[in-house]
Amino acid sequence: MASKEKSTPMMEQYWEARNSLPSDTLLMFRLGDFYEMFYNDAVEGARILGITLTKRQDYPMAGVPYHAVDQYLPKLLAAGKKVAICEQDEIPKPGKLVKRSISRILTPGTTLEDNQLDSRRGNFTMAIDIDKDRRLFAAWLDLSTAEFYCAEFDNPHDFFPLFSACDPKEILLPENSSQSWPQDNSLASWNAIFRTLADVRPVTLLHDYRFEPVWGAAQIKETLGVLSLDGFGIPQGSRLTGPAGALIFYATENLRGRPRNIRALRKFSGKKCVLIDPSTQRNLEIFKSSSGDREGSLLSVMDRTETAAGARLLESYLSAPTVEIDEISRRQNIVWELFSSPNECETMREYLSHVRDIPRILARLQNKLRNPRELSAIQATLEQIEPIKKQLSEVGSLCAEMGSRIADFSDLQDFLSSALSDELPSKIQDGGIIADGFDAELDRLRGLSGDSLAWLSELETKEQQRTGIKNLRIKYNGAFGYFIEVTKSYINMVPPEYIRKQTMTNAERYTTEELRAKEREILSARDLSLAREEQLFNEIVSRVLKYADKLDDAAEILAQIDVFRGWAELSREWDYCKPSISDSDTIAIEDGRHPVVEQMLRRDRIGLARTESFVPNDTYISSSSEQIALITGPNMAGKSTYIRQIALIVLMAQTGCFVPAKKCDIGVVDRIFSRVGASDELSRGNSTFMVEMNETANILNNATDKSLIILDEIGRGTSTYDGLSIAWAVVEFIHGGGKRGPKTLFATHYHEITKLEETLPRLVNYRVCVKEWNDEIIFVRKIEKGAADRSYGIQVARLAGLPQKVIDRAKTVLSELESEGNSIVVNLGDKPAKKTKRAKAEKTKELYDGESNFKQLSFF
Ligand code: ADP
Repeated sequence: MASKEKSTPMMEQYWEARNSLPSDTLLMFRLGDFYEMFYNDAVEGARILGITLTKRQDYPMAGVPYHAVDQYLPKLLAAGKKVAICEQDEIPKPGKLVKRSISRILTPGTTLEDNQLDSRRGNFTMAIDIDKDRRLFAAWLDLSTAEFYCAEFDNPHDFFPLFSACDPKEILLPENSSQSWPQDNSLASWNAIFRTLADVRPVTLLHDYRFEPVWGAAQIKETLGVLSLDGFGIPQGSRLTGPAGALIFYATENLRGRPRNIRALRKFSGKKCVLIDPSTQRNLEIFKSSSGDREGSLLSVMDRTETAAGARLLESYLSAPTVEIDEISRRQNIVWELFSSPNECETMREYLSHVRDIPRILARLQNKLRNPRELSAIQATLEQIEPIKKQLSEVGSLCAEMGSRIADFSDLQDFLSSALSDELPSKIQDGGIIADGFDAELDRLRGLSGDSLAWLSELETKEQQRTGIKNLRIKYNGAFGYFIEVTKSYINMVPPEYIRKQTMTNAERYTTEELRAKEREILSARDLSLAREEQLFNEIVSRVLKYADKLDDAAEILAQIDVFRGWAELSREWDYCKPSISDSDTIAIEDGRHPVVEQMLRRDRIGLARTESFVPNDTYISSSSEQIALITGPNMAGKSTYIRQIALIVLMAQTGCFVPAKKCDIGVVDRIFSRVGASDELSRGNSTFMVEMNETANILNNATDKSLIILDEIGRGTSTYDGLSIAWAVVEFIHGGGKRGPKTLFATHYHEITKLEETLPRLVNYRVCVKEWNDEIIFVRKIEKGAADRSYGIQVARLAGLPQKVIDRAKTVLSELESEGNSIVVNLGDKPAKKTKRAKAEKTKELYDGESNFKQLSFF
């Protein structure tokens, strides 16, 4: 910051505010009708906002009109900036320095305004600490919805998926201790985390004592209004209160007061959900397609929600599908009821489309951001509640039960309709919030204004007659108040007692003693009536907030109904089935389809771009029998689509959604891993092969026999021999020498690997069928048992449009290579003609000492 400018009292006030803020926070300083930035803030603000940089005396200044500030703030936050708003606390009086104070600090993770938030996504800030035993403690808070969690991690691989699912907008770290977090080799992964964090998110460093657990516990207890955190499963002395307390401190600083909407701190358990690491999320295109858009992702297919809270709930279901069979069944059964009641579902869709974002509205009202229109949004939502409850009671017993848990808001509804006007202003100062007849005092004050208007109109007629000026008018504007306007042509008829107020091009404006007196009376009645309205408005808000807990609970149920109703609609439209869920070690799918590709192909067909329709396929894999499905076939045949479709079906099933299949039995999985493609990592300077091997290492080190692994073309990033050898060894490792292992789908164009079926008893070969016709291949997209005999690379190249000359030459080269015996003949395993099951088992025992390479897990 430039040297202090202390020439005026106003600038002293500015510097006092500026010096109370960290240097990374822009200060917007209210000066009359503008929010001004000075010095470096002005330079940076002007650059981000694309506004003019001016000078005041000799220092830089840039400002935005106060009424348009809402348009500018989102841009600053999107640029990762924090913005402190310094308001005028009193009405300015000439010659007196107006009092000012910082009313709020807006940051990407703690803002509450709708136009600064993505309504369909959570908006978390995450605080992280690591103790000397290398355990990681994290807490994350979405201030806009009051979702507040904490968790402890021994292993970075458990933290990564959570971090990625939560997608925090800001990160808080302890300033000093984070510098000395362990850096040794065994902690390479922790270091990787923090490199990634610093790369992608604004990181705020707080003094270490803000992460002190005892201090944090006190902050949390005070905020939640409880004496102990035992009820939240957080015992005294837990280190989790360190980062959670830091978050409360940060929110309090930014709101300039304790957050009032937070009701609970929940302990997150990774063991209850399917953790999906960031690369698997990307590979399976769960939240975004490979091109980075929402369109083409699994989320876009599963999202039929009408409400913002519903969309956020869906996202949280999808980022942490559950392993709890009871919870999956509960969701499935509700979807089933809705699925069986299409008419009620459609009616509910219409009602839900009028339901507003109650959790975020409550967050604003509770934290003193009060806009009258929030009340009409609550009113509009309440109007939907009874009709929705009625529909729910007609759908089935589970839906009826959910409906019965929504409180009765008829009192609140009646109260609001008697209190509020039909059209509410966006600002309290505009008035017109309270309905006529609600408050006698307000009616009286409004009556005074009304009487005065009649008086003014009489005065106008009287003056026209008295002066003979026919077009004499009495008018009002904000700057000059009431005045008498006379056009220039009648100026000579203006009586001497008129006092000139303002000269216009075509007219003169006057006042009189009589008019002045009335003006004072009118304006004071208006001020009084506005003050009365504000007081009543605050009383109404307090009354609404008495229902906050019930409203929050209702919002949660409505969000669930919204998600489940959407799934029911999707399932009817696309003929999904309700999967049966168990603790078995098997996944069996009949006529499974890829949820996204299926819809894209249909859309393309409608647009006549293509004629292919999606070909369903069966799947059977089991940890203890057919553990590894090795899928071979030419490029473009449909291998990736097939293996991804299985992962997506399992994922959908474990959120409680129905799945694109005819019949489906799912034994719940604890984690889904995938290694598919790595192109997007290139931009971070990692080679494709390194990324591939990193991801593979993560899978091999962290999978359990309850996991599902999807591997696509492992080893492709290096030379054929290397790649093939690595792929070979990876498959053997996953199989191991024990009785079971992670269910694995392995797609490869190295058809040589199919030989492994001879040595690994739980490996089954599959191939994607192709038809050959006149030296061309036709994809039929069917998966069948057996190994592909060759890769058809040249035929696929022809399909891709390679010139005929190149194709012909390639064929010649291939046949030469084959005849010279140079084709890749693999002899990495044994070469038995036909092995018995027992002989195969012995071979694998020999390789891995009869051990499985994976933890055995039981959920129950
Ligand atoms: P591979 O992994 O074998 O190279 P992909 O799985 O990428 O092949 O599939 C190539 C294309 O084939 C996909 O983009 C998709 O449009 C189409 N496809 C794949 N599977 C099917 C299917 N079962 N039915 C219809 N089209 C499919």
